[in-house]
Amino acid sequence: MNVVLFGPPGAGKGTQAERLAAKFAFLHLSSGDVLRAERKSGTELGARVAGYMDSGALVPDEIIVEVILARVLKADSKAGVLLDGFPRTLPQARQLDEALVGAGSRLDLVLSIVVPDELIVERITGRRMCPSTGKIYHVKYLPPKQAGICDETGEELIQRKDDTEEVVKQRLAAYHEQTEPLEVYYRQQGLLVEVDGTRDIGAVAQDMGAIVERHLGRENS
Ligand code: ADP
Ligand code: ADP
Repeated sequence: MNVVLFGPPGAGKGTQAERLAAKFAFLHLSSGDVLRAERKSGTELGARVAGYMDSGALVPDEIIVEVILARVLKADSKAGVLLDGFPRTLPQARQLDEALVGAGSRLDLVLSIVVPDELIVERITGRRMCPSTGKIYHVKYLPPKQAGICDETGEELIQRKDDTEEVVKQRLAAYHEQTEPLEVYYRQQGLLVEVDGTRDIGAVAQDMGAIVERHLGRENS
């Protein structure tokens, strides 16, 4: 079963992906994590995407499509892939569909985490991340046991360079202009299921888990 997590920046896609992947053994593919890893390794691709990411703009479709589809197609997971942050434009969505169909597979579910813009700035400016594993915390809503330190690795948490109020505004604008139209695309295909993402992390996780269970039940019946 292949699932796309959809929603604005800061909606909780990465947070929920971590939980769903642990529960259902999905391969979690985060486009943002993939790009950040390229930058950290100092690759040519990393250098090409840096300016876009730091200003809050989407990177060009042809770059991200190539990088992500290669990983989707070589994914070695019986459970399926869980895409987080991709697709973000209509051309990306169409190319994902084509690639999956070409591989004898398909997209089964799009889980849309609905959170209004008013809540996004606080979520994003309070986000902290483990520099080596990418594990996500929040200073208020999901604090580590010891302030500023990753529970799992003991490393000092970092704040993403694009997680400032100013850049968030750009990212939200990009979301409304370029990504939101995908909702209609997926709704028309009957794939979109909405989840109220304003509740606490556990409540949202429970809902999302139940939706995936229901879909798996249908597939197996
Ligand atoms: P996205 O991947 O959609 O950008 P994240 O999963 O990184 O979003 O979440 C953004 C920030 O908000 C993180 O700091 C995370 O801990 C926090 N967060 C996620 N879900 C919730 C929630 N339901 N309530 C409060 N904070 C949340
Ligand atoms: P968010 O917390 O906003 O969901 P991500 O970690 O998913 O952030 O993405 C960070 C940045 O990486 C985006 O602002 C964008 O520049 C780039 N990016 C990630 N995924 C895509 C994509 N599918 N298409 C274009 N750009 C992307």
